[in-house]
Amino acid sequence: MPPVKRVLILGSGFAGLWAALGAARRLDELGVAQSDVDITVISSQPYHDIRVRNYEADLSPCRIPLRELLDPAGIGHITADVTGIDASTATVSTAGGATLGYDRLVLAVGSKVAKPDLPGLAEFGYDVDTYDGAMTLQAHIRSLAGSKSDPASATAVVVGAGLTGIETACELPQMLADALGPGVTPRVILVDHNPHVGSDMGDSARPVIEDALADNKVDTMTGEGVAAVDERRVTLSSGEVIPAATLVWCAGMRANRLTAQFGVPCDRLGRLPVDDYLRVEGINHVFAAGDVAAAKMDDEHQSVMSCQHGRPMGRYAGYNVISDLLGAPMLSLRIPWYVTVLDLGPAGAVYTEGWDRKVVSRGEEAKATKRVINGERIYPPLTGVRAELLAAAAPNLQAPPAYGQ
Ligand SMILES: Cc1cc2nc3c(=O)[nH]c(=O)nc-3n(C[C@H](O)[C@H](O)[C@H](O)COP(=O)(O)OP(=O)(O)OC[C@H]3O[C@@H](n4cnc5c(N)ncnc54)[C@H](O)[C@@H]3O)c2cc1C
Repeated sequence: MPPVKRVLILGSGFAGLWAALGAARRLDELGVAQSDVDITVISSQPYHDIRVRNYEADLSPCRIPLRELLDPAGIGHITADVTGIDASTATVSTAGGATLGYDRLVLAVGSKVAKPDLPGLAEFGYDVDTYDGAMTLQAHIRSLAGSKSDPASATAVVVGAGLTGIETACELPQMLADALGPGVTPRVILVDHNPHVGSDMGDSARPVIEDALADNKVDTMTGEGVAAVDERRVTLSSGEVIPAATLVWCAGMRANRLTAQFGVPCDRLGRLPVDDYLRVEGINHVFAAGDVAAAKMDDEHQSVMSCQHGRPMGRYAGYNVISDLLGAPMLSLRIPWYVTVLDLGPAGAVYTEGWDRKVVSRGEEAKATKRVINGERIYPPLTGVRAELLAAAAPNLQAPPAYGQ
């Protein structure tokens, strides 16, 4: 009997889950028995987290046990923090002291919000970067009910007026109102060192975002930063002190530090360069997908740290890792469209098309699209049926989300 080959997939987010299911699907397609190729996911959490929804008030649908998604597909999973990868020996080590060998590896360990070393931030700052982080923020907000006569309790500062910061700021007034009850008017302030909010969203969407923030009664402070945080105060870089019991840090994303383990020059976000097959350039037998990888989406544009790109990158990495292992043809990934659908809370949403982000839909109409994305489009089948899970992992590009229907 030939020895069993092993494919390790690190991470179980949008890229990792779809890489694992895509790999299992490709094995089936090639008629190779699962007993000949072991596919195992190693992830810090035994869950597939729907990370993009962490700004929402109800996170109950956002954490799916891996056993419900991977067991039916015959994919192994280990809960462990990966601490080291040695491509020269083709091994991965974990915080628990285990060392696992691989024949092929898919790195899909995502990204983290980049928190600077500001006084008090690590202790008193919150985030919506992970499910656990978002749940901690929500528990903190609920705890404010006990001190609601203090103006700091009613005030939240959100740092970073990018997509995550805007979505979070738009939800917070209602979250604070629900926690503090009648008679208290929440104040939410969105702070950004750039001269405008939503700098990445371009000129077409900016007025829509500004109107929505105003409608949601979110104040904005641009050209401003945060210098320090304590339990009930935020000190801005201008020296102004805002009584605020809640600070949510949403500024900047960095690829997982494990990308540095390969000795390959990474981009400014810490991402590994990958070719059109998602192979890490210059490293044998290693693929990367999602926020850890910079792939070309077309001749001009690199992938964006997003589930929009992470899911297809995962599917193609899964397809290709098995193809490469078994000497079968691989598929190159190019995505000919790019959209952004930004949730604006009670003010609806804004949908932009193209890399220059032209607004094509807004308000309730765009919100209907966002609900479909967050509630259906980005979910794996939850039926536990192997054939459905594998079919959903086919390397087919989805059409852009529909709008205006
Ligand atoms: C609040 C918020 C809103 C967002 N909104 C959007 C949006 O509207 N549209 C969009 O396209 N994108 C959005 N994003 C970005 C999107 O969530 C990410 O780009 C996407 O999650 C990346 O997928 P990934 O699989 O690369 O990483 P992740 O989804 O972060 O998954 C990483 C996985 O790796 C695991 N892991 C990490 N470190 C280790 C380790 N050392 N060892 C083992 N396992 C590890 C984690 O547990 C996790 O399973 C949003 C992000 C946030 C935080």
